[in-house]
Amino acid sequence: MEQKIAFVTGASSGIGRATAVLLAQNGFYVFAVARRKHRLEEIRSENIEPIQLDVMDEAAIRSVVEHIIATKGRIDVLVNNAGYGRLGTIECVSMETAHHQFEVNVFGYAICMQAVLPHMREQRSGCIINISSVLGRFSVPGFGWYAASKHAVEALSEALRGEVKGLGIDVVMIAPGLIKTEFVTKEFELLEAVEHPAAYQKIIAGLHKLVSHEPQCPGPEIIARAVLKATSRSIPPVRHALPWDSKAAVVSRWMFGGRLFAWIIRKKMGF
Ligand code: NDP
Repeated sequence: MEQKIAFVTGASSGIGRATAVLLAQNGFYVFAVARRKHRLEEIRSENIEPIQLDVMDEAAIRSVVEHIIATKGRIDVLVNNAGYGRLGTIECVSMETAHHQFEVNVFGYAICMQAVLPHMREQRSGCIINISSVLGRFSVPGFGWYAASKHAVEALSEALRGEVKGLGIDVVMIAPGLIKTEFVTKEFELLEAVEHPAAYQKIIAGLHKLVSHEPQCPGPEIIARAVLKATSRSIPPVRHALPWDSKAAVVSRWMFGGRLFAWIIRKKMGF
């Protein structure tokens, strides 16, 4: 059987790294990309080819996809995963910073999708797996810019699903809740640089409360397993939120409606 070929972004740590390793262990040849070369080199193997790049660099993404086609002749799976979280209130996060959040989390995904789609269309097969977030299904104070970027990922994915239906291409959205990776540490480091007046301090304190259970959360392997499962199904799931408490949060938002859900979130954040 022909070896399946995957392209995984954000593979230097967390979910992307766990996914690249798991796919390679399960017979895929993986092109693993991120900016930190030394971290990528740690996973280099017979079936993992690390490539250093920034997902905002469209020319670099296109040349990686050309390299994949030139060397392997096909591309079966794109895992769009590279991203980060910008914390801070809508008022205080600068527009420049907000743009950067969208450049990486939304346009980075879009560039990769545009680069692989012509090849997937031509081969009449392929699976695009977009890692969104439960914050792509609802939003909470202090996470607005990040949640907006993940809502955009959900919207693009849903539209794309319809556009490529019948062309042999699947689009899957996996929405993680809190997962133990470098993600939370990085978001709070970035938050330090945002100046908030005293009136918003209760929200900043609430953000810390909201993620305080992160050390007890599942590791990235839970998402990697969901990605692997999606690639092996003849009819993959459209949307998948996990772990279980994230699924519960999405259902609660839908059941309780905006006002009651917002009250529950505020209570969780302590204000
Ligand atoms: P990590 O911080 O561990 O990993 C993020 C990855 O994205 C790194 O490999 C990083 O590599 C890469 N990355 C970030 N910016 C760029 C860029 N400009 N160009 C190329 N690569 C980039 O976090 P996670 O593994 O947790 O996050 C992965 C995805 O999961 C993200 O999209 C995140 O939004 C989503 N998610 C995570 C949750 C969590 O609780 N952990 C919850 C919900 C969603 P490098 O810095 O080397 O470039």
